[in-house]
Amino acid sequence: MDRFKEKVVVVTGGCRGIGKAIVEKFLEEGAFVYAWDFKIPEENEPFIEDDSLKQRVRIIQVDVSSAESVENAAQKVLDESGKVDILVNNAGITRDNLLLRMSENEWDSVLNTNLKGSFLCTKALVRSMMNQRWGRIINISSIVGEIGNAGQANYSASKAGLIGFTKSLAKELASRNILVNAIAPGYVRTAMTDKLTPEQKEMFLKNIPLRREAEPEDIAKVVLFLASDDASYITGQVINVDGGLVM
Ligand code: NDP
Repeated sequence: MDRFKEKVVVVTGGCRGIGKAIVEKFLEEGAFVYAWDFKIPEENEPFIEDDSLKQRVRIIQVDVSSAESVENAAQKVLDESGKVDILVNNAGITRDNLLLRMSENEWDSVLNTNLKGSFLCTKALVRSMMNQRWGRIINISSIVGEIGNAGQANYSASKAGLIGFTKSLAKELASRNILVNAIAPGYVRTAMTDKLTPEQKEMFLKNIPLRREAEPEDIAKVVLFLASDDASYITGQVINVDGGLVM
């Protein structure tokens, strides 16, 4: 399928986990994709191995929490491709702690990466979408932004913030035919959830009606749906992709 031929896509946090799965799916469907990431893969670390797909991917080192770094990366994309059609704000971190033990640095780094990072990336790239009167912005939130989670006040606040950001932008940009939606994943098997204890994992699994964790591809497929013409009448929505955990 070539649903995204001629489309230019930016995926933040695109070298690992869910972001990498999103990059791969867009490449498979014909897009030209920029993977923005803090730490770019080492020479010996396989990223995209298929030769025909490799030609349509570029990796750019960026810290999404820094305006200067984001503006430089955006300039590189625009200089090379002349436009951006689709932005996926996926980069995110956790720094879990109970509130009384949470440091100011733990609060700031999570808010700066997850929420401010999405603001900076969107601001740097949205003008190109506005000029062409077509664009898609997909923000990766989390179910904990909807229901909260003990020990994750910083992360939950950042993900709830992303939902407000999504809805405000959806209203602001609709007249330019730019659709803005969020995905709220539940429990996805990545490096981020590897950190959970076996007891925590068991607790999640017990409560998921579909009785399995998500694979990164489960999230990527919904990102591609929201970016596709099939979703051309959907904006300002939060789609839970969580095996039924929150309903
Ligand atoms: P990973 O930790 O596997 O990947 C996150 C990616 O974001 C990494 O490539 C990381 O880079 C990058 N990143 C972190 N900070 C920055 C930064 N300042 N600038 C640029 N890139 C950065 O996490 P997941 O794939 O699991 O998570 C992806 C998104 O999905 C996140 O927003 C997360 O909050 C969300 N999510 C994940 C869930 C899960 O269960 N896994 C559930 C709900 C939401 P590096 O490795 O170099 O630090």
